[in-house]
Amino acid sequence: MTNQPDTFKKVISHAKEYGFVFQSSEIYDGLSAVYDYAQNGIELKKNIREYWWKAMVQMNDNIVGLDAAIFMHPTTWKASGHVDAFNDPLIDNKDSKKRYRADVLIEDYCAKIETKIDKEIKKAEKRFGDSFNKDEFISTNTRVISYQDKIKSVLSRMGKSLENEDLDDVKALIEELEIADPLTGSKNWTDVKQFNLMFGTKLGASAESAMDLYLRPETAQGIFVNFLNVQKTGRMKIPFGIAQTGKAFRNEIVARQFIFRMREFEQMELQFFIKPGTQVKWYEYWKEARMKWHLSLGMGSENYRFHDHDKLAHYADAASDIEFKFPFGFKELEGIHSRTDFDLNQHQTHSGKKLQYFDHEDNKSYTPYVLETSIGLDRMFLAVFSNALTEETLENNTTRTVLKLPSVLAPTKAAILPLVKKDGLPKVAKSIVKELKWDFNVVYDEKDAVGRRYRRQDALGTPFCVTVDHDTLEDDCVTIRFRDTMNQQRVKIGDLKSIIENEVSMKNWLKKM
Ligand code: ATP
Repeated sequence: MTNQPDTFKKVISHAKEYGFVFQSSEIYDGLSAVYDYAQNGIELKKNIREYWWKAMVQMNDNIVGLDAAIFMHPTTWKASGHVDAFNDPLIDNKDSKKRYRADVLIEDYCAKIETKIDKEIKKAEKRFGDSFNKDEFISTNTRVISYQDKIKSVLSRMGKSLENEDLDDVKALIEELEIADPLTGSKNWTDVKQFNLMFGTKLGASAESAMDLYLRPETAQGIFVNFLNVQKTGRMKIPFGIAQTGKAFRNEIVARQFIFRMREFEQMELQFFIKPGTQVKWYEYWKEARMKWHLSLGMGSENYRFHDHDKLAHYADAASDIEFKFPFGFKELEGIHSRTDFDLNQHQTHSGKKLQYFDHEDNKSYTPYVLETSIGLDRMFLAVFSNALTEETLENNTTRTVLKLPSVLAPTKAAILPLVKKDGLPKVAKSIVKELKWDFNVVYDEKDAVGRRYRRQDALGTPFCVTVDHDTLEDDCVTIRFRDTMNQQRVKIGDLKSIIENEVSMKNWLKKM
């Protein structure tokens, strides 16, 4: 697949056609940037969540879980800074009437320069062949250096202007760089304005007594306000973490990238409480640990990179994104933030309650620092799904669409197929399903020729097809077919469980971390 917009379109249509993701309220023409997970999508999403939960909670003695409510006391959001500062800089194009995030327009401009760097590298690679030294080329080629300098200076100026709330300079930068509306090419821009991303709602039966609430824009605050409850009741010793998965809501300005940017989405977050002064060590620790988690899924190390932030959020003293190569380029998949004691301090100030930890070793109390890892479950879904969708040309020149999902995440682990719908084969196939479903999600399928059934399961990402044929009645063996290689093997029915288990068990995958 070469053409990027085409690839992304295929991802979206495959997700719909095979029952992974539907547009919300589709019969009413949909609701923008809101999506529903369908019968296969929900299984994939659940498996990603579980893979994260096991790695974070089950495998770490000092991390526990939490499920805080979506509604929180409104002062929470004053304390966290979201009421005053959870804004995105928006800009409208006067001709097209389209709305954009000013920072995203500038970042996309830089991404285009990066593509030019990639092209230079590819050209040089061809020219120099085996003797090509990529690192040396990048650090010495004058054209590449000037591209890199350009990116650096643009991003650093944008970072400073946003930090100083100098929105006029953000607009000036867009004009100086001659950035045009990506849809129409028009450069006729309005001023840049701030736009708060929180959704408001009301709690209470009568208009007079109703209380203004927000739908939480991140799950983190539910953890901070429960910090002392968990620490005391769990007798947790610093360093320790609280992990949570759950919905978050943001009124995103531009949401045109399928489940990459949604208005209702799910986060998987860890807040790790540490002793002040140890944040650099833990920041490095969690960057590495989270990258290992990603790499354990085998989706190609070349598809990940760190992006350290120049522009820091109001609560952070260091921040880095793990970026993934989506069909539309490298974009943020997960954030790792050193949040200092900002949040706990703010909640102490606004609530008047102490949120401190007594350190028995040092014999003193302090407000812990916090290291956060925050990943969007839907974004991870898109990363996994888009990376898996492959079109292969087979020897006979037909194409095969196969969803090469990491088998540990696949919605269905095996499809059990009677070769024909008669001669007692369905009965044997159904008895295999009955036995295997204690351990795995398996399906029974008897419709169409077996070749077509294989293709259907390939498109759904099912790692194994198990075919029952006439010989099975004699020898108690079945043919197991492997999704990625299409190799087939004759095995005993009694061995199926261990063969599948060996390939899909979370334990075996997590051990790769
Ligand atoms: P972006 O810069 O893309 O808006 P962010 O830096 O605001 O993201 P965080 O606040 O750090 O994101 O949230 C942590 C994670 O939550 C992100 O890395 C991303 O995976 C996910 N996320 C954030 N906003 C959305 C959204 N609108 N839709 C889906 N996932 C999201």
